[in-house]
Amino acid sequence: MQPKVSKFGGTSVADADMIRKVRAIVQADADRRFVIPSAPGKRSSDDQKVTDLLYLCHEHARQGLSFDEVFELIARRYGEIAKGLGVDAGLDSKLEVIKGEIACVAAEGGGPDYAASRGEYLNGLILAEFLDAKFIDAADLIHFDKRGRLDEDQTYRVIGEKLKGVQLAVVPGFYGSLPDGSVKTFSRGGSDITGAVVARGVGASLYENWTDVSGLLMADPRIIDSPKTIEKLTYRELRELAYMGATVLHDEAIFPVRHGGIPVNIRNTNRPDDPGTMIVPGNGSEKHTGTITGIAGRKDFTVIAIEKAMMNSEVGFGRRVLSVLEARGVSFEHLPSGIDTMSLVIADSQLNGKLDDVLEDLRAEAKPDSVEATPDMALIATVGRGMSHIPGMAAKLFGALSGAGINIRMIDQGSSELNIIVGVHASDFEPAMRAIYKAFVG
Ligand code: ADP
Ligand code: ASP
Ligand code: MG
Repeated sequence: MQPKVSKFGGTSVADADMIRKVRAIVQADADRRFVIPSAPGKRSSDDQKVTDLLYLCHEHARQGLSFDEVFELIARRYGEIAKGLGVDAGLDSKLEVIKGEIACVAAEGGGPDYAASRGEYLNGLILAEFLDAKFIDAADLIHFDKRGRLDEDQTYRVIGEKLKGVQLAVVPGFYGSLPDGSVKTFSRGGSDITGAVVARGVGASLYENWTDVSGLLMADPRIIDSPKTIEKLTYRELRELAYMGATVLHDEAIFPVRHGGIPVNIRNTNRPDDPGTMIVPGNGSEKHTGTITGIAGRKDFTVIAIEKAMMNSEVGFGRRVLSVLEARGVSFEHLPSGIDTMSLVIADSQLNGKLDDVLEDLRAEAKPDSVEATPDMALIATVGRGMSHIPGMAAKLFGALSGAGINIRMIDQGSSELNIIVGVHASDFEPAMRAIYKAFVG
């Protein structure tokens, strides 16, 4: 029987009671052989995530400040978990070593990755003892190349070797190692990626992603009241929704499982009987039902609108515009264009103080009639395999927004017809999401 890989997110492993639920889930199915924990997350909305506290320790150490107090909070948190579960896991000595190492890495000018990774590491040790499972350090399995990208060949080879025949193992999420042996983490939320990589490496029959909601919802539950759960969707739809803000699964976690053709099941640790959401390969024969799969959105974009009469007939115009971005090291999200107009949609994190330079370069290189930047934009993607080839989907969407008095600043329909993306002012973000949800779902 092929194994299942079960990743548990921060809230699912936030305290001893939650970890007991994790054990019940793992023990309920003998195929759940590879368990990937996150670091302890929030126990309530005003609680702290251990990972955030670890970043803070590193930052204090980097500035030459004492991080005793913050570290004490972390130590106490793990102490409570271990005591609540009746395990030891050699915690005290491990904590002491980690504290020394955080100071050392910071003193040598190293980055925060080592500190941040210890949240998963310690939780992994505790969980392994509690499950009576083998602890396998992610640093020995997940390998990055010297540029910090996942070294797929080495990683999958090593996972194949080290996990072969292992009956039950815990592999901490979020981190791996660089060629020099130092620790490197994925980006935030990256335990989802570890789970996906392990699932592909062991040829899992299923990648389970256990979290605090009963699956992927049709919209962000913090914006829409009780959105419907999506029963089933394709990798491509998930990629669009995750990338655009449905943060329940890290958007980069999709590639390894898609490559291995492994279905993903998003489940709720607090409601283990709920079936959750299944993410499956699309088989190309999806019905065009005229329904949407979900809505997701992100804030913090700037749109640079460029106008130039006859730009369409000017050979090399697009290249000149994009070469400005390239020279400034800025990537763009979308590039909708019309007759005599072109818009560059760029995440603020990319522009980061470079906007004035980019505008100046655009004026010099592309000689436009006008170039104008609009900050504080939000993008909303309406996604669905059932949307393609159905006339009127866009009209329904725009009608919903205009009915709610929302000004659409930008429209981009992907060539896949899988999504329609609209840009609105950040202050219209939530009302726009609600208007779209109401129009398509009710
Ligand atoms: P974990 O710690 O288990 O990895 P995350 O906080 O990363 O969990 O992801 C789960 C959260 O994602 C939910 O609690 C919910 O607030 C948020 N979320 C945002 N958009 C969606 C969506 N479309 N469907 C489900 N959850 C969503
Ligand atoms: N603990 C890490 C974070 O908070 C990784 C994860 O939870 O997936 O980002
Ligand atoms: Mg997550």
